[in-house]
Amino acid sequence: MSLIDRFKTLRSSSIPLQSEELIEGGGPGRAMVIMAHPDDAEFVCGGTIARWCSEGWEVVYVLITSGDKGTHDKDMYSEKLAAIREEEQRAACRVLGVKECIFLGYPDGHTVEAAEVRGQIVRLLRTHKPDVVITWDAFRKGFNHRDHRNCGVVVADAVYPLVRDRLFYPEHEADGLDPHEVNEILLAGTDEPDFFVDTSAYTEKHLDAIMCHESQIGGRTREEFQEMRKKMGKNLGRVPGEERFRRWSVSRPRTR
Ligand SMILES: [Zn+2]
Repeated sequence: MSLIDRFKTLRSSSIPLQSEELIEGGGPGRAMVIMAHPDDAEFVCGGTIARWCSEGWEVVYVLITSGDKGTHDKDMYSEKLAAIREEEQRAACRVLGVKECIFLGYPDGHTVEAAEVRGQIVRLLRTHKPDVVITWDAFRKGFNHRDHRNCGVVVADAVYPLVRDRLFYPEHEADGLDPHEVNEILLAGTDEPDFFVDTSAYTEKHLDAIMCHESQIGGRTREEFQEMRKKMGKNLGRVPGEERFRRWSVSRPRTR
C-alpha cells in the first residue's frame, strides 16, 4: 500500500492506535522520549505518553537541555530558570506516569551534533533498552529550532548504527552494558505524518501535564489553552485528540 493510500485508510478508518504494531506481541513496550527542552514532549506527544503509561508502558524521558533561556522575565537568570523548568518537567512526568526523567544539562540553544552527546544517548539507550524512541523530526521543511533539529539528528545517529554495534563507545561494554537494537523511531513535530495516535481519552491528563509548565504557558488558563489547541488543531486539519508522527522502522541485517 502506498503511503498516500495508507494515510487515506488511516484517516477514514476507526483504527484508534497503532502502538500494538510497534511492539512484537502487542506490548506494552518500553519507550524513550528524547527531546531538547522541558515541555517539548508535553506539547508534541503528551497525549501519547499519557496513553502509553496508562496501558502499562515503561516510559523514560531524556532532556538534552534544561531550557535555561526560555523567558522574557528581566529578573530571571539561567540557573534559576533551569531549576524551575526541571521541576516543572518532573511534575509533568509524575502526572503522566513517566518512570524516570533524565537531564543531560547542555545549555539551551547549544545542542550540538557531537560525539559526546551521541555517546551519552547511546549509553542511556543501552541502559534502558527501549523498543520505541520518540524524538524531534530534524528533517522537516521550514523553520525549526536548532536544538530540535540537532536533537533529532543526534538521536537518529545514536539509534543507527551506534547503539547496536559494540565497537562504538566500547567503554560501555567495560561497564557491563550490552549493545541494543531500537527498531522504531517516531518523529514528533513532523510535516509528513504517517502514524497517528488517538489520545482523545487522555485529554484531561495531557492538559494537566501541560499546565505543569507554568513558566512557559504565558499565564493562560487551562480553558484558554484547551480552546487554543482546538483551534490550532482544526486549522491544521487534525482529528480532535490526534497526535501525529513520522514513523521510521529500522530494519537491519544482523551481520555485515
Ligand atoms: Zn523546544
